[in-house]
Amino acid sequence: MLDLQSGRTTCTQAVRHFISCIEERSSLNAFIEVFAEEALARAEELDKSEIKGKLHGVVIGLKDNICYKGHAVSASSGILQNFTSLYSATAIERLLAEGAIIIGRQNCDEFGMGSTNENSFYGPVLNPIDTGRVPGGSSGGSAASVKAGLCMASLGSDTGGSVRLPADFCGVVGYKPSYGRVSRHGLIAYASSFDVIGVLANTVEDASVILQVISGPDDFDSTALRQPLSSAQNVESDKKFKIAYFPEWINHPSIDTEISKAISEKIKSLQAEGHIVEPVEFPLTEYIVPTYYILTTAEASSNLSRYDGVRYATKAATDTKELATFYQQNRKSGFGTEVKRRIMLGTFVLSAGYFEAYYTKAQQVRRLLNDQTALIFNDFDFIIAPNSPLVAYKTGQQNIDPIAVYMGDIFTVFANLCGLPAVSLPLFKHSSNLSFGLQVLSSPQNEVCLRRFTHLLMQQ
Ligand code: GLN
Repeated sequence: MLDLQSGRTTCTQAVRHFISCIEERSSLNAFIEVFAEEALARAEELDKSEIKGKLHGVVIGLKDNICYKGHAVSASSGILQNFTSLYSATAIERLLAEGAIIIGRQNCDEFGMGSTNENSFYGPVLNPIDTGRVPGGSSGGSAASVKAGLCMASLGSDTGGSVRLPADFCGVVGYKPSYGRVSRHGLIAYASSFDVIGVLANTVEDASVILQVISGPDDFDSTALRQPLSSAQNVESDKKFKIAYFPEWINHPSIDTEISKAISEKIKSLQAEGHIVEPVEFPLTEYIVPTYYILTTAEASSNLSRYDGVRYATKAATDTKELATFYQQNRKSGFGTEVKRRIMLGTFVLSAGYFEAYYTKAQQVRRLLNDQTALIFNDFDFIIAPNSPLVAYKTGQQNIDPIAVYMGDIFTVFANLCGLPAVSLPLFKHSSNLSFGLQVLSSPQNEVCLRRFTHLLMQQ
């Protein structure tokens, strides 16, 4: 982005460069479609233009669940194979208005459901650091693209870690803003009370500038926050913060010893710099993953009911005259295994007789989590945590035990249950040569402080 700002490169040169990189690294399977001609035409236009927006010439990839008018969008699902967006997401309109160039759509887990990017109709994405490993999910193509230098930044979505986990596994910055910070208009819904568009980039600054552009109130989304995001940037490098961490997480039985050690050492070094870093008990830890999976599958079972072959979805080859059979055949052939599993689970937790025991209970736990978290932020500026108990998994393992993969979401889904902004910073290296990160969370809508602190952490 700096080369563009300083005039060392033109928009056209930048787009040509990324198109050739995408071709060279096509085996990563990060892009489903590249808008090559269109991106070049736009770059040429921008090079001639006198007006320079905040994202003039910034080349951005889109997770394949964000609508861009006149372009295919499928949420990496077979059921939306032939679907073209009728309108653009608010986030896309805002990117384009500031001079960004959209280079293509990126592979992800089907409807954002997964942690490995192996649940895609278009096949798995490979991790650019080690192609025998997964890039993380669900925004795997978006993270792999940034890491491999196939675009300057990507838009992803984060319902339960889908920006932060792939950022962690691929060694890039993953920024999940507060719930409502970015309009969900034009984001294909997974679980509407959790979904938010986020940014994957090389630096906190790049991610913050893009977030600044795409955020803000929107008449098309009543849950979008009314207050605009302040662009204040004055980083006082000597400011000392109060930071909490959860010993239950850092010493969790599932955590890799090197990850645990790296976070513990980070705590010590922050203390040595004069920050107050203290342990806080978090007794609700074991309820986080079940609560998340009950609520998100319930919301997904409702959101995904629109894919029936009449309103949306590719129609299966069938000559049935029976409506229920028609729906069944379309859904059976269109959805992948993981999506079907979640629709069944969500339908079950919402069904009469079980609703109170699962859905209502999970809503109550969500409330408790929010209350407990609010208390923590009365005393602290930030919470620091790991993103994942493990580094990037080897490919092909997730079908063995889906529950083990769900448990891997333990440290990321908390931010979504409470609507908190959270950033994954690529600070650490594992002995396996893989990268892993530090997660920094702040109180809801406190992105300005989060930006200052994460910027400082990246400079150390
Ligand atoms: N692993 C999470 C899930 O499968 C990721 C969800 C997301 O953030 N889209 O639900």
